[in-house]
Amino acid sequence: MPQMDDRLVMTGLRREDEELDASLRPRHLKEYVGQEKVKSSLQIYISAALKRHDALDHILLYGPPGLGKTTLACIVAAEMGQNIRVTSGPAIERPGDLASILTNLNQGDILFIDEIHRLSRAVEEVLYPAMEDYALDIMIGKGPTARSMRLDLPKFTLVGATTRAGRLSAPLRDRFGIVFRLEMYSPEELAKIVSRSAGILGMPFDEGGIMEIARRSRGTPRIANRLLKRVRDYAQVRADGHITAEVARDSLNMQDVDALGLDRVDRAVLSAMIEKFGGGPVGLDTLAAVTGEDAVTIEDVYEPYLMQLGFIMRTPRGRVCTKLAYEHLGKTPPAVMPGAEQISLLDEGEQS
Ligand code: ADP
Repeated sequence: MPQMDDRLVMTGLRREDEELDASLRPRHLKEYVGQEKVKSSLQIYISAALKRHDALDHILLYGPPGLGKTTLACIVAAEMGQNIRVTSGPAIERPGDLASILTNLNQGDILFIDEIHRLSRAVEEVLYPAMEDYALDIMIGKGPTARSMRLDLPKFTLVGATTRAGRLSAPLRDRFGIVFRLEMYSPEELAKIVSRSAGILGMPFDEGGIMEIARRSRGTPRIANRLLKRVRDYAQVRADGHITAEVARDSLNMQDVDALGLDRVDRAVLSAMIEKFGGGPVGLDTLAAVTGEDAVTIEDVYEPYLMQLGFIMRTPRGRVCTKLAYEHLGKTPPAVMPGAEQISLLDEGEQS
């Protein structure tokens, strides 16, 4: 979708991020900010596997884009002292593609599959025995004389990443021994990430400038690094290169990223809910149609942050806006909030 690429707060990977990601990606667990529970469990699993001279159990990481799933997979490989092979669900088109990746792995290697929910059923079938028994079943010949042969694979660790665990087929999900959900980062954690990045990129900054960027980063490290880069450009052209609160504020306001990190699409979603549907409930597809955004993008990218802010809630009949959303847009909330009688948050992964 063309408008996705020019959006500053988009959580997905953009071309300009690739280079930035590579230079700013933490290499070791101690540099990885936040996600304390995940880190401490992972530390134990890694130490235990190293002690046993064994491969780690397969790991599933889930959470919105840009929260550090790829980074964590690379860190797992580095901490285990092993190589990592990075691929993604859509890149593995046929069972043969996966078979060739698997047969090229070495003992202990980490295989990272991003967007693992997008593997086809036929490819998944190849993955099951590989994950469970480190074996590859191949068919030799055709018709009545065809027979199946089992090839042994080296013991490897699969790290799968997905935006939502609910999207994964149950048999695939069940084959992961370790499942971690990555949470959005607090502004304080993002501030640590931004100041580390500013240090690496050699940008002069003060605390206020860093905090201003952190607060507008939607809980997402990838956005934090991207905003930092934009603020740097502004600071170099309009100021003396120093990132202060004022420089960060002016630069991000100019790019239509508001004090909470919402951009025009977030505001369009909220405005449509309030003005066209009296605050809701509104179904996801209706919301997609009136805002011109893709339903999956709304669900994976906008909604998690709007829900985190407490601006949107999911009810069994659709999404509703809260008072906070009305107030943020400078609108007067109704005396009785829509959907108030039936608000019950739906479970993670449950479809609307
Ligand atoms: P995902 O795979 O979930 O989309 P990435 O692992 O590619 O996200 O993270 C995007 C960028 O954000 C990385 O390049 C890295 O610089 C930064 N990042 C992510 N998580 C962290 C973290 N916990 N600490 C520091 N930087 C992080």
